[in-house]
Amino acid sequence: MQYETGPAQNVLERYIRHPANKPTADGSFLRISNITTCTRKQVLDGMGVPRIEAGPNAVNGFVAKEIGNTMHQHVQAAFEEYVPNFECEVEVSIPDCLTSGHADGVYSASHDNPSRREGTVLEIKTMRNYGFRKARSEGPKEEHLFQAAAYALGLGVTKIHLVYICTDATPGRWKDTARAGDMVEWLYDIHEPFDESGTSINVATTYFLEDHARMAKSYLASGVIPEGLRSYWETEIPWECNYCPYYDICEQHGDIDIVDVIDLVIKETDESVK
Ligand code: SF4
Repeated sequence: MQYETGPAQNVLERYIRHPANKPTADGSFLRISNITTCTRKQVLDGMGVPRIEAGPNAVNGFVAKEIGNTMHQHVQAAFEEYVPNFECEVEVSIPDCLTSGHADGVYSASHDNPSRREGTVLEIKTMRNYGFRKARSEGPKEEHLFQAAAYALGLGVTKIHLVYICTDATPGRWKDTARAGDMVEWLYDIHEPFDESGTSINVATTYFLEDHARMAKSYLASGVIPEGLRSYWETEIPWECNYCPYYDICEQHGDIDIVDVIDLVIKETDESVK
């Protein structure tokens, strides 16, 4: 007998449904890893609204995250063993922008000059073959560049090293194939331009940091939750929403206010402790 949805999948889906809300590095309202994320999602995250990992992609997302965590640990361990002056999981605070995070690592560019100000931020990303192949031919995703650059700005360094690792294989008929374990890497100075307009990575990153800080301050002063990507739902639901742990909230409430959110927090917290 083959199950349509077997008992193991059922219990795993329940097990992963309410992941713990990870605190931000220094208790800030925003987190640097959300640098290009939907503004509504950032506010719900900042408020500590319980995440709900449900829907058809929940287990797939969980597996991708677990593989990602494992590969992060292995690459970090390799750097610790073989790269001089490597520091793992470096806390970064940017209090002016109400944000903080952890860089995967920082290593010193030179033996002769091991000061942090000469260091390079290491940012590791795992992804499936489509995204990997696209990045391999077109360059890294902007959101990853900006995240790494934000760590660099917070730490006062200028170099960022992005590492992409492919986690699955492309079907054989494709010319540009990738296999699990294929890697591609880039080293940038954050003053370099990242697109044809000539805008530098650090200028674009600073724009995002400051814009989100203004958004968060406006929410904290008014209690009005921004629409974020919810404003596009009339025409088409953006793909990011299909992977968002707050999808249920946005589906039930177009315009939500703080009272709706408190109700939802109480309801979800009750359910998760049953
Ligand atoms: S479901 Fe979409 S609109 Fe709602 S918080 Fe998530 S990303 Fe934003």
